[in-house]
Amino acid sequence: MNNNNEIFLLKLGEIVLKGLNRRRFEDRLIANVTRRLHPYGKFRVYSRQSTVYVEPKAGVECDLDGAWEAIKKVFGIVSMSRARGCAKDPDAFVAAAKEYLNDQLLAAKSFKVESKRADKTFPMTSIELSQYVGGLLAEAYPHLKVDVHNPELTVRLEVRDFSGYVHANPEPGPGGLPVGVGGRAVALLSGGIDSPVACYMMAKRGLALEMVHFFSYPYTSNEAKEKVLELAALVAPYCGRVTVNIVPFTKIQEELRRKCPEPYFTLAMRRFMMRISEMVAHRVGAEGLVTGESMGQVASQTMSAMACTQAVVQMPVFRPVIGMDKEEIVRIARKIGTFETSILPYEDCCTVFTPRHPRTNPKPEEFAEIECKYDFEGLCKEAVEGIERVQIRAKG
Ligand code: ATP
Ligand code: MG
Repeated sequence: MNNNNEIFLLKLGEIVLKGLNRRRFEDRLIANVTRRLHPYGKFRVYSRQSTVYVEPKAGVECDLDGAWEAIKKVFGIVSMSRARGCAKDPDAFVAAAKEYLNDQLLAAKSFKVESKRADKTFPMTSIELSQYVGGLLAEAYPHLKVDVHNPELTVRLEVRDFSGYVHANPEPGPGGLPVGVGGRAVALLSGGIDSPVACYMMAKRGLALEMVHFFSYPYTSNEAKEKVLELAALVAPYCGRVTVNIVPFTKIQEELRRKCPEPYFTLAMRRFMMRISEMVAHRVGAEGLVTGESMGQVASQTMSAMACTQAVVQMPVFRPVIGMDKEEIVRIARKIGTFETSILPYEDCCTVFTPRHPRTNPKPEEFAEIECKYDFEGLCKEAVEGIERVQIRAKG
């Protein structure tokens, strides 16, 4: 038997997935869970009947509480339970339930017992085992009523190959799809509130992310860069392995300041960002871009402004917070723990040169005349060549 005799049972989400997709989904989830658990000990992770089992390996000390918290950030799990192992014997199930679920059995008013039997050599049927254990629990906790339709507490028994397990009402998991099943995208990560939330939301839909940050030293400071790396570390537990591409952006901003009419400045800069991000995407095998834009939030996020920035790239641009109010975005930022870091007062390259009167209702064609004044492609290429890639370690 393993530490504390406990294991985790994880229920897969999106149960509508069938056939090949389902297999891919499960394999990816198992790989993601295994990788996340690495710092907490050695575990065996495998799936049976839409459930992923996480078992600490025998004889190895594992940090089960740490592992449990870490798994709460692995997308693809709809619900999760901790279960106590016991001998495969009806009375051992009763004893384990009394000990492991005592608080819940005392607190509930009604209950039922449900059993699952993977070991078909077990001498009782599932129904017989449920009735036997249910009867003895009802005797031991006389205040409890049996209610098979709508019980407050469902005591679950599992008869598996090597052990029995007892568990009860599961906790909700993080939901979503396992990171990686949806392919890879490049996320534009600024130091603000919105883009880390956008990363979280797209990771939740199964995208693996490569991040890009545009850095204009000395207009933006090293503290601003550290802040962005910190934000990446805070979303990394959700996103899986993360690399931040720090793009040197100073030369482009200086060229823009010299040659671009002020009302067009922000959008001209954002067109550079989009183009460079797409070039990074080609390099790393990504097929889409992600931004934290929200409709109407600033002049560069109106529909016509976004048409101008979209026009320089071929890839789809995903903007998961496009329809959200700031308060809604802030609520998610607080939930995922990025808010406090996002509001630290360091400048972003977007805020260094801000036009007093940005062009309203701009058209993509208007940029042809502006962009012929500098070597658009050459500047993009040079920026990509100067990229510093930083591997991020997950925080929390
Ligand atoms: P955020 O709160 O994420 O900073 P924002 O409301 O400040 O967003 P903008 O500064 O206009 O909005 O930027 C819009 C989007 O462009 C950001 O959400 C982000 O995806 C991208 N972006 C802006 N600045 C940078 C940067 N320096 N590096 C990478 N991406 C950036
Ligand atoms: Mg910003």
